[in-house]
Amino acid sequence: MSIQDSKVALVTGASRGIGAVIAKQLAGEGFAVAINYANSASEASKLVVELRQAGYRAIAIKADVANAEDVRRMFDETEAQLGKIDVLVNNAGILKVMPLAQHSDELFEQTFNIHARGTFNTLREAATRLNNGGRIINFSSSTVGMNLPGYAVYIASKAAVESLTQVFAKEMRGRDITVNAVAPGPVATELFLHGKSEEQIQTLAKMPPLERLGRPEDIARVVSFLAGPESGWVNGQILRVNGGLV
Ligand code: NAP
Repeated sequence: MSIQDSKVALVTGASRGIGAVIAKQLAGEGFAVAINYANSASEASKLVVELRQAGYRAIAIKADVANAEDVRRMFDETEAQLGKIDVLVNNAGILKVMPLAQHSDELFEQTFNIHARGTFNTLREAATRLNNGGRIINFSSSTVGMNLPGYAVYIASKAAVESLTQVFAKEMRGRDITVNAVAPGPVATELFLHGKSEEQIQTLAKMPPLERLGRPEDIARVVSFLAGPESGWVNGQILRVNGGLV
């Protein structure tokens, strides 16, 4: 198959959690997928093997989204192996729940570097390298609408992602590229579950009127919509996906 035959999607933080399910969903829809990861090499390569065995085109690329040079190389490698990128999903993220007063400088920087700088780094590359008609889906969080104690730094970094999304959508004028963000509520992944008691998990799970935690598939289906032709008139929006939580 030539590298022009399928559209290309780059999903950051796709070794695990929501990103891995997005990669599977987009591969199943015919995208050649670049699976970015920072540390989880074996999970990323297992996913690549699984997708290739199913007949899909997939590669894994180690890159820290917070590092501009890594991000340039990630775009270079994706273009060289799969072709020019049509869909960029900025999913990579971390969460450390802790009162602001206890945050270290390092944790503040890490959180902002991955969410705000990481999104900035990939958008800057995408500005000149994404195919016309492309799609960008950034990741915020419904916590931005909740102002939960313990989430101040995480929320502030995701608020920055929302602002980058809304301005960058306008800066893509003339390219037929849409730029949106999804803002999930609690989803049953390691990021959410780690460090929480069963009671805390159940309390959060019961909060939305639909009375359950989100599943990665709930989010991946919305990303798929935003990545596809049916969402062409949705642009510059923050789409909360949370069962009605906020
Ligand atoms: P997860 O299961 O912890 O997975 C996080 C992914 O991000 C992993 O693949 C990880 O790769 C990658 N990653 C972390 N730091 C990175 C870096 N510097 N460069 C590249 N990749 C990096 O998390 P998740 O729940 O799927 O979350 C995905 C996104 O949804 C995040 O942006 C998160 O903020 C957002 N979100 C999640 C929830 C939720 O409840 N789960 C709610 C709202 C928003 P390695 O393992 O290789 O480090």
